[in-house]
Amino acid sequence: MKKTFLISLYILIFSIFAISQLFQPPIKNSYITASFGEYRDTGAESHFHLGVDFSTFNRKGESVYAAAEGSLYKIWLNDPLYGNAIFLYHEDSDLVSGYAHLSVFSDKISKYSQLVQNEFGNQRIEIVFPKGKIPINLNEVIAYSGDTGEAIAPHLHFEVLKQSQDDFTMYDPLEFLEYHEQRDKSLELMRIRSNNKYFEVTENGETVVEYTGNYPRIDIRVREKLGDNSTILPKKVSMYINDILTYKMDFSIIKESEIYKADAVFGYGSTSSIYWLKMYSDDHLSPIVINDFSAFSYETSTTLNGEIVLEDIWGNEKVYKLKFIKP
Ligand SMILES: [Zn+2]
Repeated sequence: MKKTFLISLYILIFSIFAISQLFQPPIKNSYITASFGEYRDTGAESHFHLGVDFSTFNRKGESVYAAAEGSLYKIWLNDPLYGNAIFLYHEDSDLVSGYAHLSVFSDKISKYSQLVQNEFGNQRIEIVFPKGKIPINLNEVIAYSGDTGEAIAPHLHFEVLKQSQDDFTMYDPLEFLEYHEQRDKSLELMRIRSNNKYFEVTENGETVVEYTGNYPRIDIRVREKLGDNSTILPKKVSMYINDILTYKMDFSIIKESEIYKADAVFGYGSTSSIYWLKMYSDDHLSPIVINDFSAFSYETSTTLNGEIVLEDIWGNEKVYKLKFIKP
């Protein structure tokens, strides 16, 4: 009994260790410019950003490497969002890695796409391969970076997903990547919006926010700055009211079927680099992990203590004190 427990503990620890460095960065000596779950107001409909973006130093033609050993799974051509994209299947983890906005595929892969492309021209095409049929090595050059699909400038979009019954579960790729963020990191709560009024946040004091109704329904403008050149979305955002964890968002998992539900999480004024998060919701969505205002349903006091906690994937945390008052 004890032995079995020890062995399972060993397997558990080992698998956590193994999963944390499952993938190598698909662009070498690069850094991320966008994170998982960010708002995108570009394209036909607003949506969630379901991967991370790697800088290709504004160049097309940078080598794109397979993040792990696997096999060719899917090719997309001329997708309005992804442009030209490659998906690899990784049998060990049952995960799929995706690479988008590519300019050209490697010779080995374009052999398969060229015939179809000649036939169908610029239409959106998906080619699916039998899993395991076309092996791909770790760090094999599979393509060259570009700006096809929805890309303002050349970069590489990288994602990690798993097929479930009738949907895909999209994961924050940073949880699987061997990636070391070297730049200075700064989590920031910048402004608060309540009943269409804006409240400036005081860094080390208490920000007073007016509200009406039984409990506050606020939007908060947040970001994490990485060095001087990137702004990403904080990974977790929690709100405590009178020390009760009332609302929490965690951008670790989003279902592919939820891609166009970004407006349930992001408030008006949000763009691809400005994130107004709604700290309340009437919807159920994967990133909303706690949504329970029941403790305040019959609240009669006119002052509530609030706290907003921002967290990133590297273990940094920032806490802001609020005082909610009824004017
Ligand atoms: Zn992207």
